[in-house]
Amino acid sequence: MAPQTGELVSEVTAIRGMRDILPEEALRWQFLERTVAAVLAAYGYGEIRLPVVEKTALFKRSIGEITDIVEKEMYTFDDRNGDSMTLRPEGTAGCVRAAIQQGILSTPQRLWYMGPMFRYERPQKGRQRQFHQTGVEAFGVATPDMDAELILLCARLWRRLGLTDCVELQINSIGNARARKAYRDALVDYLQAHADALDADSQRRLHSNPLRILDSKSAETQAILDGGPTLEEFLDEEADTDFARLCELLNAAGVAYTVNQRLVRGLDYYNKTVFEWVTDKLGAQGTVCAGGRYDGLVQQLGGKSTPAVGFAMGMERLVLLLAEQGAVAEAATVDVYVVAVGADAEVMALVATERIREENPQLRIMQHMGGGSFKSQMKKADKSGARVALIWGENEVAAHAVTVKSLREGTVEGPAQSTVPLIELDSTLCALIAS
Ligand code: ATP
Ligand code: MG
Repeated sequence: MAPQTGELVSEVTAIRGMRDILPEEALRWQFLERTVAAVLAAYGYGEIRLPVVEKTALFKRSIGEITDIVEKEMYTFDDRNGDSMTLRPEGTAGCVRAAIQQGILSTPQRLWYMGPMFRYERPQKGRQRQFHQTGVEAFGVATPDMDAELILLCARLWRRLGLTDCVELQINSIGNARARKAYRDALVDYLQAHADALDADSQRRLHSNPLRILDSKSAETQAILDGGPTLEEFLDEEADTDFARLCELLNAAGVAYTVNQRLVRGLDYYNKTVFEWVTDKLGAQGTVCAGGRYDGLVQQLGGKSTPAVGFAMGMERLVLLLAEQGAVAEAATVDVYVVAVGADAEVMALVATERIREENPQLRIMQHMGGGSFKSQMKKADKSGARVALIWGENEVAAHAVTVKSLREGTVEGPAQSTVPLIELDSTLCALIAS
């Protein structure tokens, strides 16, 4: 079919990697967002709403200067005053900033937020430049029971979404900064001897961010890593004890996991527990949820030392998974379509429809606008997906009545139609819709 509105002027098309979500897909988003909010409420988490733009320095200080995000993925610009601003690439930095600035960290805080994030990346399935995350952050608890709660919360969410069978939990401990530094040095020493055999990305990272080499997708690089030092050997006793306790809690709660010693996460602020929920249903973009402990970040941004742990879910990837699982039934947009032919009929229909909405707030009613013949309006009614049409024409106006027509095919008696006095409309409607 030729586009009815003609072709968009190329100068004003949407920005690459930034998508429109049309109403049908939005139903899936609403289901996901509702379920997420309900599960978070069940654990006593409170929603925090944060700005989409923050000072650039906030992200440099928290995420780290030598990370993919800060080095090459941020949307950074000077505002009219010449101050450097950045569209948030993730939510933790802003959440920590707000928690310190608003002075809400004197007692443990369980917070969540949902919204768009921006990263200049190569767009592909499950990877966009404007994407959405739900972030969850728990402040003020240093013990691994908090880490376990967050993981259990995720597991409950997957159950409610019907996704349990397509996601898998991976966990690891990356210890404290000292352990990581010692490990980093040992790893660089070892890899330098094999530098020529590493993939190009890993060669570059050898000097900038060597821990990221553990993430490499190259089989050759992974084989070289097999012979190298492991992070586990460098962990301090506290990290070991906490990790063992986390495993114990997950075992007791019946949550399955695998320990992935190469899981390090790409942001500087993590320590101790890190975890990811991954799926094999979305190709290369397999991580749907990722997080970990970041005990040093609050202090690093100027707050009083406060332990913290959190995670972020990629909403696009979860919506894709839901679609893959056929999780949300296609829902019609409306229950009732209102047809009115003639100026007087339009007035009566408008007034009656408003009254019906008043008395039946749960009913979804779409009234035809813009006039047209009975036939063309009925076509729209059929297309709308509504189960019932309410019809006003000359005869209905004269009799102060309305024709109620079932649009449902395949019922035993076939489509029903009856003309009823306006005052009887509500009960007729309810009976029809319930049938
Ligand atoms: P990846 O390795 O896929 O780039 P990441 O480590 O950069 O992920 P995080 O910063 O941990 O991702 O963000 C948490 C989650 O947000 C990811 O697991 C993913 O589900 C989602 N996510 C991250 N970047 C994007 C993006 N560009 N488009 C869509 N979802 C994204
Ligand atoms: Mg990334």
